[in-house]
Amino acid sequence: MHQSADILSLSRDEFSARLAAIGEKSYRAVQIIEWIYERQACSFEEMSSLPRSLRDRLAAEVPFPQLTERGRKVSSDGTVKFLFELADGQMIETVFIPTEKRSALCISSQAGCKFGCGFCASGLGGWKRNLSAGEIVAQVLRARRAVAPEKVTHIVFMGVGEPFDNYDNVLKAARLLNAADGGNIAARRITISTCGLVPGIKRLAEEGLQIELSVSLHAPNDRLRSQLMPVNKKYPLRELMPACRAYAKETNRQVTFEYILIKDLTCTPAAAAELAALMRGWLSKVNLIPYNPVAEFPYATPAREAVFAFRQELERWGVICTLRSPRGRDVGAACGQLRLGAGKRD
Ligand code: SAH
Repeated sequence: MHQSADILSLSRDEFSARLAAIGEKSYRAVQIIEWIYERQACSFEEMSSLPRSLRDRLAAEVPFPQLTERGRKVSSDGTVKFLFELADGQMIETVFIPTEKRSALCISSQAGCKFGCGFCASGLGGWKRNLSAGEIVAQVLRARRAVAPEKVTHIVFMGVGEPFDNYDNVLKAARLLNAADGGNIAARRITISTCGLVPGIKRLAEEGLQIELSVSLHAPNDRLRSQLMPVNKKYPLRELMPACRAYAKETNRQVTFEYILIKDLTCTPAAAAELAALMRGWLSKVNLIPYNPVAEFPYATPAREAVFAFRQELERWGVICTLRSPRGRDVGAACGQLRLGAGKRD
């Protein structure tokens, strides 16, 4: 066992191979994986059915990724925001969002973000590093342990970071969370959200997984989208939209477009018509998100009437749409409000 890796980054086969290499029997792998995913163990120390020598050896060779809880805030609407410190001092946020029918866990894929969208707090501190697959999985295990495992019904890669900028680790984590003897979460209940990295969308289409794809669109034309999202200069709509349509065609899954409603900017009748034209004739839907205020940005949330009018306009054009109600705004846990090391200050 010379190659270092955290235990939660390893698939069952990889872990079994590691154990075999140190002369351990294969049933140990089953036992340990059960401790992790069924019995919510977060350390080898807790695995009381293992010999002490094995526990010590594993803790030294394939340690659990270190996630030290540095804060937990509960919103008046029941949303819970966890702040975790990683082994190297980086901070990440994970948000549990309960509703009556389903409860999603919103997880981070990177410490910080490179993409600098003009409305999102996550990019303000810049990018620090990718998370390992194990650090991604650990967020789920820790949150499950905190709120009760059965309560987490859906996983959304909508926390800090751009999942397709950390493609391999994100996909590995998604597979581990999906595995029947792992996280046991159906692929259709796992959503990956991207700011529009076309190569990532194309790769995901080839994976043969039923993962939900969500694309942060936020503007219906290149002029406005490039103004709000610098990534659009690299992957403009003429490349992004065909990649999304190909994804829907290849996977037969509906693609969701996240669309922020910013007062007087993105929710005009003209914008609704342009957006409808992008959606027409294929398996897509729009999820409208009223802008959540971030102090550093000059934007405002539109009035309720403007939100409803925009939605009505889209529906008049035949677009399938949903309206996301803001969750956890009072604890800075709503979409776009997560940022690097946020809890340190409060
Ligand atoms: N990088 C990925 C994952 C982040 S998901 C992506 O861009 O999709 C976070 C979601 O919240 C994205 O749809 C993002 O555009 C949205 N968001 C960011 N800032 C926001 C804000 N101030 N108000 C509402 N939604 C916001």
